[in-house]
Amino acid sequence: HGADGLDWPITVESSVDSTNAEIFRRLDAGVRAPFVLLAERQTAGRGRRGRVWASPFAENLYCSVVLRVDGGMSQVEALSLTVGLAVAKALQSIGIDGARLKWPNDVLVEGRKISGILLELAGDPADVCHVVIGVGINVNMAVDVPAVIDQPWTSVRQCLGRVLDRNELAAKLLLQLRDCLSIHWQRGFAGLREEWEALHAWRGRSVALTAGNNATLGVVLGVDERGAIRLSVDGVDRAFSGGELSLRLQ
Ligand code: ATP
Repeated sequence: HGADGLDWPITVESSVDSTNAEIFRRLDAGVRAPFVLLAERQTAGRGRRGRVWASPFAENLYCSVVLRVDGGMSQVEALSLTVGLAVAKALQSIGIDGARLKWPNDVLVEGRKISGILLELAGDPADVCHVVIGVGINVNMAVDVPAVIDQPWTSVRQCLGRVLDRNELAAKLLLQLRDCLSIHWQRGFAGLREEWEALHAWRGRSVALTAGNNATLGVVLGVDERGAIRLSVDGVDRAFSGGELSLRLQ
């Protein structure tokens, strides 16, 4: 607590199915937001669209924060980009200079995924609702463990060449989240866009933007003030946004 402290109560569990799922149960049971849940492992850690998030015991950070959102859905627009920025800044603050952002919300180091983010909403979106912000960061994960990861990944330990105390990273993550979210609530993503762009992993790269089975090919121009990704498609500047979109390098 105090001017520089955090007034989100924090609970640490040894094992949960998913920190986001456990938060939804606690909200249903009447626990009031905001609060933070950390777990030593997840038995059913998940990513977007039901994908698996590898979550071995005591090696990584599995953290969810739940907040009340009073201003309706527009407040949540681009929130996942803001969360990605907070994660990248926390990683930079422990010495990982190469942390970069892949739209909408992955954090990469030299093209390898170090963190995943899953935002979920609860309640009536037109009124007061809750947003559950799930963040997984690979900290000390052993190189040979997770067979479920079917893309290049890395960890804090691989980047720094040493084991890191997870508490130190958890504290930095929560403080960065608090600071980035406070800008987001005041000014929207527009207040963070420049900082996000400075860490953009794929500006100028040729990509495929996929939505289900549809793919649009283009060159990444940047992100706009609402957090949409801008692509040059056949020479035309177009903006795309929405939860089901994914980018792949071409
Ligand atoms: P998108 O671009 O749509 O976000 P994604 O494949 O990165 O695509 P996510 O839902 O963000 O999707 O993350 C799930 C994917 O991340 C899994 O399919 C797996 O390939 C990978 N993954 C799972 N666990 C880890 C982990 N601990 N570290 C890095 N990557 C992981």
